[in-house]
Amino acid sequence: MTARSRTRSEAEFERALKVIPGGVNSPARAFGAVGGHPVVIDRGEGQYLYDIDGNRYIDFVGSWGPHILGHLHPQVMSGIEEALKKGTSFGAPTVLESELAELVAELVPSVEKVRMVNSGTEAAMSAIRLARGYTGRDKIIKFAGCYHGHVDSLLVQAGSGALTLGAPSSPGVPQGCTADTLVLEYNDIEQLKETFSQAGDQIAGVILEPVVGNMGVVLPEPGFLETVRELCTQHQSVFIMDEVMTGFRVALGGAQQRFGVTPDICMLGKVIGGGMPVGAYGGKAEIMDAISPVGSVYQAGTLSGNPIAMASGIATLQCLRETNPYPELEAKTQRLTKGLSAAASKAGLPHTLAECGSMFTLFFNPEKVTSFAVSSQNDTERFARYFQGMLDRGIYLPCSQFEANFASTCMTDEDIDQTIQAAEEVLQSIG
Ligand code: PMP
Repeated sequence: MTARSRTRSEAEFERALKVIPGGVNSPARAFGAVGGHPVVIDRGEGQYLYDIDGNRYIDFVGSWGPHILGHLHPQVMSGIEEALKKGTSFGAPTVLESELAELVAELVPSVEKVRMVNSGTEAAMSAIRLARGYTGRDKIIKFAGCYHGHVDSLLVQAGSGALTLGAPSSPGVPQGCTADTLVLEYNDIEQLKETFSQAGDQIAGVILEPVVGNMGVVLPEPGFLETVRELCTQHQSVFIMDEVMTGFRVALGGAQQRFGVTPDICMLGKVIGGGMPVGAYGGKAEIMDAISPVGSVYQAGTLSGNPIAMASGIATLQCLRETNPYPELEAKTQRLTKGLSAAASKAGLPHTLAECGSMFTLFFNPEKVTSFAVSSQNDTERFARYFQGMLDRGIYLPCSQFEANFASTCMTDEDIDQTIQAAEEVLQSIG
């Protein structure tokens, strides 16, 4: 199979490189880990993306998570179109804000009250501030390999031992910003207990991805989320579940519903905006009421609760609630992941496959990935060859081994078969 022509993409990306740092508005989109230039997208439709050369791809990125219903979903588009007719932003209350907040409170177990922001990063920054303001404590526990947006205090890289002070992983983040961030290993219950026993009365909160998407998909081991819940309750620390990726994705009520563990605060993003820029954080009313203007923890936003974004989110959540696509979507995803796994085995490639609902990662790593320490041993060069081979066959995957793939409700049996067949060819050729 010959590579498809992407000459216009190449030329457009050269143009972007001259005026946009790295040619991209978010580094995850650059093909740094896999080589070559990104594909420049013209449009999406359902489960497909079309590039500006006219090539069609089956889209397993879905804008990095939001498009569980695919692109241009009719219900979502008509919600957006109706809202557009009335104006784009008012900086004053609208009915749409209450509608989306009510839907979120109805669907997400931990949420009694919710505040809308514009991104997952903003949700993380605000949730951390709230946990600190509410408890009057400074320390935050995060886990190596979990990503919570580019918040200064959470940009701390690989795990260090309990109570070791975190070192910033980006220039421009002062040491002081991460001095109160404790970085632990995901799924390490003993380390977590030890940390709480040493510093429990200083810990404002624990933040985690209940299913990690940002070191590839990594599932919580049995008892891990439950232990976080227990320790937070015992030490009056705030349990912050980052459901930016998992919310409305791994179940209608997110990972907290799927695993039956309820945090104090959760963060939402991606699916909640149906492709428009929305983030949110919500939880117990008593904690949420510590935010301004009721309480004194300050957080604000000129465009927060934007009516077009709210309309997109409302239509998306209503559609998910009405159609309950989760069982079918999960079955479809499992058929795909079984096929990918079988193709990798047939090609004799060491691998593991992790999945939760419609999120999955094929790891080029023979060991089950339970933490960042294990994930960092993935064969990223083999992944790069896999990625390029799939792209050439019209399968658009995340351009890094350390990301989740997402299936969408509009994917058909033919799409799944085509993807498996492409993987069989590619995996055979990259041994
Ligand atoms: N939390 C998680 C779990 C995420 O996956 C992401 C983005 N990939 C974020 C937070 C940050 O969200 P945003 O990119 O909207 O700022």
